Amino acid sequence: MVSKSEILKILQKEPEKYWKVDLFEREGFKRKVCPVCGKGFWSIEEREHCPDPECGEEYGFIGNQIAKKMSYIEVWKKMEEFFVKNGHASIPRYPVLARWRDDIYYNIASIVDFQRFDNGVMVFEYPANPLIIPQVCLRFNDILNVGVTGRHFTAFVMPGQHAFNYPKEGYWKNETIELNFRFLTEVLKIPKEKLVYVEDLWAMPDFSALGPYIETFSLGLELSNSGFMYFTWKDGLKELPMKVVDVGWGLERLAWFSNATLTAYDAVFGDVIDKFLKKAGINVDNEVFEEYSKLSGKLNIEDVVDFKAARKEIIEKLKIDEKEFVEKIEKIQAMYAILDHTRALAFAISDGGLPSNSGAGYFLRVILRRALNLIEKFGFNVDLGEIAVWHADYLRPIFPELKQNENEIVTVINAEKKKFEESKNRNKRIIEANYGKSLSTEELVKLYETYGISPEELGLESTKEFYDILNKKHVASIREKKESIEIEPIETTTLYYEPVFEFEAKVLKVKENYVILDKTHFFPRQGGQECDRGFINDCEVEEVIKIGKTVLHKVKNCNLKEGEIVKCKVDKERRMILSRHHSATHIVNYAARKIIGNWVWQAGSNVDVDKARLDITHFENLSEDEIEKIENLANEIVENDLPIEVNVMSRVEAEKKYGFRIYQGGAIPERNVRIVKIGEEVEACSGTHNMLKSTKEIGNILILGTKRIQDGVVRIEFCSGDVALNYLREKEKILKEVAEKLGVREDEVIEASKKLFEEWKKERKRLGK
Ligand SMILES: [Zn+2]
Ligand SMILES: [Zn+2]
Repeated sequence: MVSKSEILKILQKEPEKYWKVDLFEREGFKRKVCPVCGKGFWSIEEREHCPDPECGEEYGFIGNQIAKKMSYIEVWKKMEEFFVKNGHASIPRYPVLARWRDDIYYNIASIVDFQRFDNGVMVFEYPANPLIIPQVCLRFNDILNVGVTGRHFTAFVMPGQHAFNYPKEGYWKNETIELNFRFLTEVLKIPKEKLVYVEDLWAMPDFSALGPYIETFSLGLELSNSGFMYFTWKDGLKELPMKVVDVGWGLERLAWFSNATLTAYDAVFGDVIDKFLKKAGINVDNEVFEEYSKLSGKLNIEDVVDFKAARKEIIEKLKIDEKEFVEKIEKIQAMYAILDHTRALAFAISDGGLPSNSGAGYFLRVILRRALNLIEKFGFNVDLGEIAVWHADYLRPIFPELKQNENEIVTVINAEKKKFEESKNRNKRIIEANYGKSLSTEELVKLYETYGISPEELGLESTKEFYDILNKKHVASIREKKESIEIEPIETTTLYYEPVFEFEAKVLKVKENYVILDKTHFFPRQGGQECDRGFINDCEVEEVIKIGKTVLHKVKNCNLKEGEIVKCKVDKERRMILSRHHSATHIVNYAARKIIGNWVWQAGSNVDVDKARLDITHFENLSEDEIEKIENLANEIVENDLPIEVNVMSRVEAEKKYGFRIYQGGAIPERNVRIVKIGEEVEACSGTHNMLKSTKEIGNILILGTKRIQDGVVRIEFCSGDVALNYLREKEKILKEVAEKLGVREDEVIEASKKLFEEWKKERKRLGK
């Protein structure tokens, strides 16, 4: 396979063609090649090397304010205003949990918002063109750098400037760099002599799309990356018919540059820093911290593997002692890290994320516990929930949803805090046995995974390697692909959404007990709904599955011949019960979210004829009171006889209209989705909901029980209509029998059995057992 640097070399043969834009000529930017890295760059001022710190450039903006001073909030507001004025639609941010994708958990770049899969091929779907969006992204690969380097965050805002589908729509290089230049010089008021544009290559990891990259630098800080999807690689460069502009800005960086503060955190967290300092009683020694900041910039901590050595070096250079280092530097670093982690948690929880010990919630728990450990280590008199509220207040002009979901954010953080305390008590012995021991990274990872014990609790420090291993195991890995049976790809015409239960079809293929028909009304198991049953001629259908576009009917005693026309009969009663239970699932999901909180999300479901089960994300089991409330609300929806509407629409339209809650059952790998609307609950779903017209047809919903099935997941079992009625009748029969046996009325059974139990206990004692 070709490498990125090889492709870059091909483009570098014609720099004028790939990177030069009209503006460079007009404004007097001259091209030079960096003697260190070999990349081309464009600047007005004479310079030796490119502006990348790796090629020798130093941060020249700290304490040197050359741009207009604006707050973090103001920078976005001005940016939005500028791009809207220049023909862009301003789009609200997408969730930080990338629910529309099944290959990543978190949103890592603004372009992710618009990338979708269509039968395995990446396509772009966008609600407007061109557009600008303040996308919040989460990245957990540099946790240890957060708070230390002055520029690393786990949560950051990447304002995305995107234009799609050039040359049919959108715009291309000239317009992109023109807007870039004008925003920086007219709005941020950076003198044009201080701007440098660097030539690089933008590429998807698999080289399905790639093209020139123009990075904008000023005084050593990278302010934006303009990527141009120009080519695809197939034994050489092939031009893409549709070209896409992907500009990622760094809001944290723009605010830092604009304020020329010692760290980006000082410019980004606003008054939250002052509130923290006051509450925690920290006095900042500006002089020492400034000295330190300069040093840390030069030391380039990003590349420093050995933190201990780096720390020793800093202590020597600053001529302070260990105690002063902790007081004047480490405390401030810890504060920055706590503020960053809390902000990331606030966004994630507001978007329905929940810390847990696996999957998407994994790293939320890691940063939450890291923040709690830091608070404890330095004895700060602060509370994580309170800090989240400060962030919500400060960010309100851009992200009002944090304020709206404030209670939920605090509830989840407090629940996690409680769990952490409990696990600490539970693990006391293990912690004591391992405290201060020199453990290998593997051993530390194992302790964290098995007991949730972090290295800090053992008096050790987490290393980059420790977090890298966790990252690889839990977040970076692509979700497991489902196994599939090997079968010829014969497309079946699927007719199961039509209310037809008897039909004729032609047998196309018979393989052992599996039969493929040219068309079918049998609903295959999908979207959590169990499959239909019935007969093909006199062969009983016991299972129906769908692989790709092929529907397979598994039959008993198969005597069917390829090519013959068969009579098929779908068990209608079974289908109707499944349809009722499935619609009840959507309603219970909705009711649970309304009663419990925003973080309730479908983690799985199974719809069968005797009962249905829904797994929801929640941090503890449900109380009797909560179960009753959920059941009541669900039945209210049934009684209100709301219409059940099913519509097929494009994915982009559905997202625009209903948001990302539609992906309760996971991402949909096709351009068109079936949208099921039951009252306020809207989900993309392939179930047979259209068998029912309105909620009354579901019948009353009865919750049979709930249990916590794993950390962060609660299972609710329920049934509805006749199934519920039969269930209650069975129970009543049992009650009647018990009452008869006890010789009391039915309403006296509880008292009578209590009495019986007491007597039995006494009797046992008497017998000395
Ligand atoms: Zn260079
Ligand atoms: Zn459904």
